[in-house]
Amino acid sequence: MKNIDIQAKEKALDLLRDKSDTKLITHMNACVRCGLCADSCMYYLTFKEAKYIPAAKVAAVSSLYRRYCTFAGKVAPSLVNAKELNEEYAAEMVDLLFGSCTVCGRCVKHCSIGVDIAYVVKKGREMLATMDMVPATLQATVDAAINTGNNMAIPVEEFTDTIKWLEGDLIDEMENPEARIPLDEYDKELFYTLNPREPKFFPLSISAMAKVFYAAKASWTLSTKYYDVTNYGFFNSNTAEATQIAKNLYDEVHKLRGKKLILGECGHGSRANRWEGPNYLKKSYDFETLTAVELIGDYIRKGTITLDKSLNNEVFTIHDPCNLVRNGGMFKEIRFVVNSAVENLVEMNPYGNDNYCCGGGGGMLAMSEYNEGRLKTGKIKADQILATGAKVVITPCHNCVDQLLQLNHTYKMGVKIVTIAEIVADAIVKNNKNKTI
Ligand code: SF4
Ligand code: SF4
Repeated sequence: MKNIDIQAKEKALDLLRDKSDTKLITHMNACVRCGLCADSCMYYLTFKEAKYIPAAKVAAVSSLYRRYCTFAGKVAPSLVNAKELNEEYAAEMVDLLFGSCTVCGRCVKHCSIGVDIAYVVKKGREMLATMDMVPATLQATVDAAINTGNNMAIPVEEFTDTIKWLEGDLIDEMENPEARIPLDEYDKELFYTLNPREPKFFPLSISAMAKVFYAAKASWTLSTKYYDVTNYGFFNSNTAEATQIAKNLYDEVHKLRGKKLILGECGHGSRANRWEGPNYLKKSYDFETLTAVELIGDYIRKGTITLDKSLNNEVFTIHDPCNLVRNGGMFKEIRFVVNSAVENLVEMNPYGNDNYCCGGGGGMLAMSEYNEGRLKTGKIKADQILATGAKVVITPCHNCVDQLLQLNHTYKMGVKIVTIAEIVADAIVKNNKNKTI
């Protein structure tokens, strides 16, 4: 068990003592213990233990507030269920707030009085980060992003080689030597970003988006140094680190004088850059920020690209990434694009804003020490997918793609997992003639 530094402990408790954080104080103390959030959480549904009820995760933080910030908690802690912040309790918090919550926000929508449970969980994570108690695997992911520019520590040369190889394939496929995947180009309309899992494991999703840009005759570029759309500082809840990662991308867009930042298919990366980024940097972004899904939706509406959905004629379903849909407002846009690109869409039950997390969110995929729980909770998603009868699962998030691939293997689902760019690229009609690119 890791020792807690006294000064770090006081700094962590200062987060609870901060009277300006009225949201935290309100949401920590508002829970009426009705228990209605229990069945919204895949951890409680999977393990049926009281400690996994979302309200218990709130209580893990609020019991410290009572102990250190209320008179009753200071004089008679056991009477008000106030807890001491010691090594043992901090270790329990790590397992509960990092290891048993994906910060998916489904419980928030189900809470009878609107307690923002995910916000309180993130504050608890921030306390743990202050005490240097973030799980080492998640911290390594953040460190890699800060030290190398991307969370998988892919060297610039390796990334450049991968992109040049994909550009060669694009030239062959388009039968056009002018086809490009531009790198480090200035004054382009679109500054595009990727999840590092793409160059590392799923290069075909880069090819798919390059085909979309080719068909749209887009002015775009990737940066070789800061192309990473993810920000795991959002999940380790170390604000200084999250700010540094957001700033690196912001500065790079400025350096290359991009007009619009296009967030590649990544749920938390979209949220961390679009909604949290201005909060981290304490200023509005002076360039437009759009998700790849919205950009593609715009192309379809304006007729910039033309799709023939008969080219995607299998049965499809959608997995809604929590940070793009429930917490990002993309429900309708994703349906618009998917229904423009495929013939037969069968929704999950529940779907959209109420869909279950895949189990890989909140930094869970990075924390290998919690793999067993992640795959067990993912059975809910596997059952949802199997019930649709779909052969292909579409999800606009590479984190979700990775978790769904592991669920596909574990639960022998026999489905294909694809991104939105992939189904759109497959449906594009070249030159508006009935010929695909
Ligand atoms: S945010 Fe998601 S994983 Fe965390 S307690 Fe709520 S429902 Fe469960
Ligand atoms: S639904 Fe809301 S008020 Fe009820 S126990 Fe859960 S967090 Fe507390």
